[in-house]
Amino acid sequence: MRVVIIGNGVAGMEAALGVRARQPDWDVTIVSEESDHYFSRTALMWVFCGQMSQQDIEPLERDAYQRLGFRRVRARAVGLDTDEKKVFLAGGLEPLAYDRLLIASGSTPRPGPWPGSNLRGTGHFVTMQDLAWYEAEVHGGESRGGRPPRHDAHLAATTDDSPYRFREAAAAKRGRLAERPAIIGGGLIGIEAIEIAVAAGLRPHFFIREDWFWPIALEPREATWIGERLAEHGVEVEQAPMAHADLVDVREAEYDAEVAGAGGRRGAGFAADVAGGLFNSGEYDFDIGLHIRKRRIYVL
Ligand SMILES: Cc1cc2nc3c(=O)[nH]c(=O)nc-3n(C[C@H](O)[C@H](O)[C@H](O)COP(=O)(O)OP(=O)(O)OC[C@H]3O[C@@H](n4cnc5c(N)ncnc54)[C@H](O)[C@@H]3O)c2cc1C
Repeated sequence: MRVVIIGNGVAGMEAALGVRARQPDWDVTIVSEESDHYFSRTALMWVFCGQMSQQDIEPLERDAYQRLGFRRVRARAVGLDTDEKKVFLAGGLEPLAYDRLLIASGSTPRPGPWPGSNLRGTGHFVTMQDLAWYEAEVHGGESRGGRPPRHDAHLAATTDDSPYRFREAAAAKRGRLAERPAIIGGGLIGIEAIEIAVAAGLRPHFFIREDWFWPIALEPREATWIGERLAEHGVEVEQAPMAHADLVDVREAEYDAEVAGAGGRRGAGFAADVAGGLFNSGEYDFDIGLHIRKRRIYVL
């Protein structure tokens, strides 16, 4: 039995471990564009701060793939043939044949819906490659322990629109590190980008669109309290309801890096383009867990 799992994050890895625990002989292949080793995305901020190394945030030993018999393919999955049961890969690599397919490709950072949100000096804080970009803007290089092995191995098999491509840092071109970053988006990722900028000694500007910080989790009094603490740390919090075009003008004058913390699109990228396409076509029958019945395709 050939199992192919697209995604080397917590979902893909847990599934691979589950398969291996039940089926010692099944052939398991993990496709991951972003990294060779499964890492904890929630801990990226500690690497940025220099408190942990890249290896520290990998929950498994690096030889786990070998020991558990997981084959790894470091490439971008770009398509699917559900009749032939094949996954197509970028870079002209040989398609992967499967008997059962799991799509665990996570979410894709939502691009800022304002002009200029793709310029040099702008980025996200979601992927391993985003970490490299933000570190380059703020620290001028890696924070601690260096990059993971083969950090750029996917570049031979990726696409131009991939969220795992590296971004150029404006700091390198300018010859000066970021001093005044703007963080746009008042959610969990936004506040983490703020926290690590403050830890680096900066005084970031925090733009939020909602009536108060993180309304899905906090009520106004709590958000006000947090805003006051942020101010004590030199963070300016500004409520800017969709004044994005103006914001960019201001930013060009005042800000030297911008993190778009507008959240992620669950199921974007491969799952949306491919599985979502199948879903919307009405051609396939999905059950509640997005299991494509009879096709042996599962989406997490
Ligand atoms: C800064 C930050 C902080 C967070 N903090 C928290 C928190 O405190 N608590 C919490 O519960 N959650 C938190 N989250 C969310 C959490 O990290 C995610 O919910 C979780 O990582 C999702 O796991 P996943 O395995 O589904 O996908 P991901 O971790 O996104 O992994 C996706 C995998 O799919 C691969 N992939 C994607 N597309 C392709 C493709 N086309 N071809 C090949 N490979 C592909 C990637 O290489 C990667 O291996 C945070 C997220 C971020 C960014």
